[in-house]
Amino acid sequence: MLPMDLHTHTNLSPDSDAALGEMLRAAQEMALPVFAVTDHIELCRWYSQGFYGTQPRNEEDFYDYAARWEQAMEQNRRARMLAGGSLRFVSGIELGEPDADFSLAESLYRDVRLDFTIASLHELQGKLDFYFLDYTREDPEALLDAYYDALYAIAKWGFFDVLGHITYPLRYICGDAGIAINEARYRERIAEIFRTVIAGGKGIELNTSGYRQKYGKPFPDEALLRLYKDLGGSVLTLGSDAHRPEDVGAGIADGAALAGACGFDKVCFFIRHEPHFIRL
Ligand SMILES: [Zn+2]
Ligand SMILES: [Zn+2]
Repeated sequence: MLPMDLHTHTNLSPDSDAALGEMLRAAQEMALPVFAVTDHIELCRWYSQGFYGTQPRNEEDFYDYAARWEQAMEQNRRARMLAGGSLRFVSGIELGEPDADFSLAESLYRDVRLDFTIASLHELQGKLDFYFLDYTREDPEALLDAYYDALYAIAKWGFFDVLGHITYPLRYICGDAGIAINEARYRERIAEIFRTVIAGGKGIELNTSGYRQKYGKPFPDEALLRLYKDLGGSVLTLGSDAHRPEDVGAGIADGAALAGACGFDKVCFFIRHEPHFIRL
């Protein structure tokens, strides 16, 4: 049996068309014991477009996530009622770019309707989401330097349960653009992020979306998962990052097997930001 899927989206996220009911049905059909919906809230566009005085740069430049936050909390409340039975529903959120406003992000973490926060970094300040960047015009090493610096700042800030897909830019730089990266260059910086997360009692997720994408590996990959374990990391969640019902639970079996092979004997989910462990 799959232990959990702790990272999924519905049509409250700009990049998903999935209705809540379809996602819950998929989770029930897979007999998932623990399931979270973690819709996108991007702190860099929390206020209305008028507040920023900018034009949307592309179809995903959605503004006014403040209103979306209330919708997500209401939807999670409804999902908990609908889930019932053997499915334990976790009220989650994927909080993007908390570094855009750390004090606001801290108050969102404290929302009592929330069980679980994934902190993610999808774009650097002044840049598009890594998904939209043209890598023939970018310096991937400089981008990754800036990315891990920003992720380190988020790790030190600490108001989250897990860091999401910590090697996110590689999905596009290595996977889609096919650019090879000297991963040794970033290893010590990532180790410092891990040490900070572990010292703060926080965790990381093993995001299994990469298994079904060109990248072909989870975020992070085996080498970094082993590093996290070797440094004392024990808080690990598993998430498919499904944006449609067909992907609920996708790659979780492989992710759980990889975690086991790396020495993890349990994985984790959160209720009111408290970790609960499930044996693998
Ligand atoms: Zn994400
Ligand atoms: Zn996501």
